[in-house]
Amino acid sequence: MKVKLWGTRGSIPTPGPETIRYGGDTSCVGVTLSDGSLLALDAGTGIRNLGLALAAEPARLHILLTHLHLDHIQGLVFFAPAFRAQTEIVIWGPASPEASLRDRIARYISAPLSPVEVRELPCDVSFRHCPETEWEIGPARIRAASVAHRGPTLGYRIDDGASSLAYIPDHEPALGADIDALDEDWISGFALARDASLLIHDGQYADAEYPDHIGWGHSSLSHSLAFARRTGAGRTVLFHHDPLHSDERLDRLGREARRQWAALGGEEGAIELGAERDEHELPVRAPGTTAAKPPRGHAPYRDRF
Ligand SMILES: [Zn+2]
Ligand SMILES: [Zn+2]
Repeated sequence: MKVKLWGTRGSIPTPGPETIRYGGDTSCVGVTLSDGSLLALDAGTGIRNLGLALAAEPARLHILLTHLHLDHIQGLVFFAPAFRAQTEIVIWGPASPEASLRDRIARYISAPLSPVEVRELPCDVSFRHCPETEWEIGPARIRAASVAHRGPTLGYRIDDGASSLAYIPDHEPALGADIDALDEDWISGFALARDASLLIHDGQYADAEYPDHIGWGHSSLSHSLAFARRTGAGRTVLFHHDPLHSDERLDRLGREARRQWAALGGEEGAIELGAERDEHELPVRAPGTTAAKPPRGHAPYRDRF
């Protein structure tokens, strides 16, 4: 499995000379599975460059949306494959009692916010609510589970061979609780991230910023690290950077992250801040030699909202 970060910013696109290295595009991660199947995790403004970079036009691709905040869907109408009749796009996302996934996305892809309507997209697009049980895309097993954020929000886990990716970009697992003191069944997102080869996780706030943002749906640095340590993820990429965090600020946060990680007894080199265009190739171990345990059966996290 190959993973490439196309948008690492949270909340709003943040272009400018201050954000050149870590990037200003909002959440999008491209995943190439072992058979070449392509997934996009979220469709923030980063998906525009993902679409432009596709060398050969895939016949079919999947977009897995964690939720419908604008920083996770804004790139949909600028995604080149959506404007090609020969492309089939399957968009997965959270169900809501309020309206279907298609109707909720159509609030953005419609006048006056958009020049095109969903029905006018030339591609063959379909919308699917994520099932509560695991499902398959190509060689991968996909799981989605509700996580603590604002509004219906999913995290994802993708297992391909013995490699596993957990993607939880908007997440406040420590809301009103101490992660280290909680039983694992009560930690939001725990089963998704458990022993993942790579965890891509919310890293929005510095510790000093968090007290002013409790309940906003995001993590402080130390909460992200406590979550990563507790779940046993092999490597962790901190993601969804705050729009106020310049490259220099993120460099300082990265140093602080490595310092805290070492103090927690974490392995050197296992924690980093995500930068746009970073690539990760996840190891594929032969079946039977796996060091990564499969995730536990059900989604035990009890929604606190
Ligand atoms: Zn977000
Ligand atoms: Zn959000």
